[in-house]
Amino acid sequence: MSKTKDTFSLQFDTTWQYDAAPESASHIRLQKGYDLFIDNKFVPPADGKYFNTVNPSTGKKIAEIARASQADVDLAVQSARKALGPWQALSGASRGKYLFRIARLIQEREREFSVIESMDGGKPIRESKTIDVPLASAHFFYYAGWADKLEYAFPGRNPKPVGVAAQIIPWNFPLLMAAWKIAPALATGNTVVLKPAETTPLTALKLAEIIRDAGLPAGVVNILTGAGDTGAMMVEHPDIDKIAFTGSTEVGKLIQKRLAGTHKKLTLELGGKGANIILEDAAIDQAVEGIINGIYFNQGHVCCAGSRLLVQESVADLVIRKLKDRMETLIVGDPLDKNTDIGAINSAAQLKSIKKYLKKGLAEGTELYQSSCELPSGSGYWCRPSLFTNVAQSNTIVQEEIFGPVLTLQTFRTLEEALEKANNTFYGLSAGVWTDKGSKIFKMTSGLKAGIVWANTYNRFDPTSPFGGYKESGIGREGGLHGLASYIKFEDR
Ligand code: ADP
Repeated sequence: MSKTKDTFSLQFDTTWQYDAAPESASHIRLQKGYDLFIDNKFVPPADGKYFNTVNPSTGKKIAEIARASQADVDLAVQSARKALGPWQALSGASRGKYLFRIARLIQEREREFSVIESMDGGKPIRESKTIDVPLASAHFFYYAGWADKLEYAFPGRNPKPVGVAAQIIPWNFPLLMAAWKIAPALATGNTVVLKPAETTPLTALKLAEIIRDAGLPAGVVNILTGAGDTGAMMVEHPDIDKIAFTGSTEVGKLIQKRLAGTHKKLTLELGGKGANIILEDAAIDQAVEGIINGIYFNQGHVCCAGSRLLVQESVADLVIRKLKDRMETLIVGDPLDKNTDIGAINSAAQLKSIKKYLKKGLAEGTELYQSSCELPSGSGYWCRPSLFTNVAQSNTIVQEEIFGPVLTLQTFRTLEEALEKANNTFYGLSAGVWTDKGSKIFKMTSGLKAGIVWANTYNRFDPTSPFGGYKESGIGREGGLHGLASYIKFEDR
């Protein structure tokens, strides 16, 4: 605590604060600029164009990043195509060894990856250190284990790789999304061209260093940086066999249209508007903590965030009071500080979009409560944890994905009403249920139209467990055995 006081005054002093506890960044070595990773070499972009990646907590440039044009996309796809035959010809056990090596190299560089993830994306170091980076290596470990067991994963079938996969990922879990996509593709004998999001390219480029150091055969993984136009060139490329996309529903729909009538296989992991539902018999403190975790940690930059809270009417007042109390204790600040709960919003554009929704919510006649916490000074992008009450199902803020630390609260009387409200959305990615009764968990989980439903917990991930959505939240599954199937075509015997 920053102010030293005697015990008595401390007990009654509600203004105390934690001292800063910054994670050291002194060991981080970043280059001024980064090139494209094609055929196991870093090569400058054909037309010499670069863009800046910015630290969202300062608004300052971190490095210059190559912008891939059509010639670079062609080169990367050619390299992946050339590598496909030799990579498929390797035994599953050999492919697995490379994946194990990548997993271990990520583990060895865990601190470096966590710090860079927080610098480039704005997420709290607590999250990048305990979730993003360990889960990324866990995915490589998990799929390494499958590489020589595909016959057992799909018994009686003859699983074959799809071919060259174009993988396009967003900015909310940059390294983890790269691992989700690359690991199952390689385990099943595919080769890859991956594009990270334009605001968070650094950890994917660091992963490229690991891939090179792991001695992966040239061309098996290529990493292209650039914006949406580079992604579109990958999607359109005639020599791509599979597209794996995670991002907005808007772009997902565009991609689906572009692929209509082609041979290309597609998986889409898109937006969400997850309902987190508290029943009256739930352990309320535990549930409130789960709600906080579901929407406020990581700035609400999670597609499966529990952005809609549904509370049974009899406990609504209690939940609202406890929720507001807990919101007041959340720390918005330096992503590299270990005490930070809510880091920086990923970009100026994202902050603008969140503010637009806050305004829209108020214009629709709802009530907005925001924590009174201090926001860091300077030119970073920050948003207070926000709670909308007095909302209607038809309000824009209840229907549309905000992708920020913004929660809407509705009440219900019966479980049927809760299900009706929870499912009344175009999305179907995630949901949560808080109750003391197993029978109610079964009723709710079987009635919820969501790809992932957590009971008495939220935002838990595991490489063995499939992830994906219904309706406009996507097509296909990633993770677990289902994640392998997305990269396989069956040639039945
Ligand atoms: P978000 O709103 O989360 O930024 P986007 O869908 O815009 O989500 O971006 C997710 C990823 O898709 C990023 O890597 C982005 O560069 C890429 N992207 C954007 N537009 C297109 C497009 N038209 N075709 C392919 N990829 C795209």
